[in-house]
Amino acid sequence: MAHVISEDCIACGSCISECPVEAISEGDIYVIDPDICTDCGTCAAVCPSGAISPA
Ligand code: SF4
Repeated sequence: MAHVISEDCIACGSCISECPVEAISEGDIYVIDPDICTDCGTCAAVCPSGAISPA
C-alpha cells in the first residue's frame, strides 16, 4: 500500500521535504512513487490541502 496525492494538490511543496524515503516527486501536482512509499503518513499530516490519503 502507498499514500496517493489527489487533484486537490496545489503543488506547495510542503510534503516533499517531510518524506523520510524521498518518495515524492515535483510536478504540476506532486506524485508519490508507490514502490518507495512506506505508508508512514507523514506527508498527509503536513498537506494544507488535505490532498494526501492512503490508497
Ligand atoms: Fe513518504 Fe510517508 Fe508520504 Fe509515503 S506516506 S510518501 S513514505 S511521507
